[in-house]
Amino acid sequence: MSPGSAPMCVLTRVTVSSRHGRLAPGRRVVAVTEPPFPAPGSTDIALSVRTHDRAGHKRVDAAWLAATWADPSTRIVPLAGTRLPVTAAGDAVRWHTADELPADGLQLFLGMLEGAAHFALVVEEPTDAARWATFREVLQELSEPDAGFMVHAVALAEWHAGHRFCPRCGGRLKARDAGHVLVCEQCARQQFPRSDPAVIMMVTHGDRALLGRQDRWPEGRYSTLAGFVDPGESLEDAVVREVAEETGVRVTDVTYFGNQPWPFPQSLMIGFFARAETTEITVDQEEISDARWFSREELKAQAEAGTLVLPGGISISRSLVEAWYGGPLPGQW
Ligand SMILES: [Zn+2]
Repeated sequence: MSPGSAPMCVLTRVTVSSRHGRLAPGRRVVAVTEPPFPAPGSTDIALSVRTHDRAGHKRVDAAWLAATWADPSTRIVPLAGTRLPVTAAGDAVRWHTADELPADGLQLFLGMLEGAAHFALVVEEPTDAARWATFREVLQELSEPDAGFMVHAVALAEWHAGHRFCPRCGGRLKARDAGHVLVCEQCARQQFPRSDPAVIMMVTHGDRALLGRQDRWPEGRYSTLAGFVDPGESLEDAVVREVAEETGVRVTDVTYFGNQPWPFPQSLMIGFFARAETTEITVDQEEISDARWFSREELKAQAEAGTLVLPGGISISRSLVEAWYGGPLPGQW
């Protein structure tokens, strides 16, 4: 079947080197006899929706922040380090007003929802006997707005917990802009919250997809491959490199799927599909102890039997697997 006549052929944009060694954009026509990958946005990804107006311009308005903090309509969630208070049922975050909370602590302005300002207050110790949970423990139970506020708050709290001193001069850091900037008291260098990009990818070959597992995982657990982006590396190159390093498989047609903030402590998971050009697997035995090709039928049958356990419903890995499979699958971590 010639390129262009095939109903499922796609134009793939690639980058090629010119004779002079300078990078220039190029186009290459690739005949693809496999179905196209699911489009970005075609599958829900937890934590990947906009839940609140971050109102970033208010972070620098000290008078507004002070007045709003004390307003009885303002909702404040205390965080003990990075732990959050949840109701006894574990299905909702416990919000407070300022007069119910200690005066000390780091105030983080999260944003607005339905006219109400929302803050987090980072304290060292629990302020009462409420149940304190990690975000990961209760994430699946939380409402979408609460999960959105909490992923913002926990990301900031993790950043503050891990950044006590200036990386340039070792001076003490002071929070500014409602907790979204840290400034060195000695050299005045500013720091901003950071996210570390990591690629996570569903590698396919015909009707089969490649999943891997780590040695320390419980038996039967498999997931999509993933890895951190190297300095100076494009996302697509990171996909190609990580798959090759972990499994020896060579991939092409790297196609964006969607992304998910994962602030434990500071990752941003960026999901892709990629097509395998080779199928022989050689696992690295460091990050990955086993990798296998699964057909859709094998995936369904083994997931139903419990011999294959797929990642949890909140993970972008799960979204990738189910987007490729074409529907929900049973069982999860
Ligand atoms: Zn400094």
